[in-house]
Amino acid sequence: MGEQIKDQSYTCPECQAGKMHLKYIPYYLWLGEDLITVPEFPAWVCDICGKREYDSKAVSWLRILLEAGHRRTVHRQARHVKGTEDRPTATSG
Ligand SMILES: [Zn+2]
Repeated sequence: MGEQIKDQSYTCPECQAGKMHLKYIPYYLWLGEDLITVPEFPAWVCDICGKREYDSKAVSWLRILLEAGHRRTVHRQARHVKGTEDRPTATSG
């Protein structure tokens, strides 16, 4: 019995020598003034030259999520600018 698992890799279009493998790497994008951080985002990475290509389906999926306003599903991380630390003020309520 030969159960074949489809090899999820293809030849790198950049160097033609390496293979593109599906990996999960951080993905950053700006949405207006907000920096959206996705800690684990599917991307194709070449094992030779290191070319990265984010999964187009995942990118469009993320865009749909963001456009729909469901930002809670992705991790948001505010970038702190050196020297301008925001101190949380006491809030009522
Ligand atoms: Zn390559």
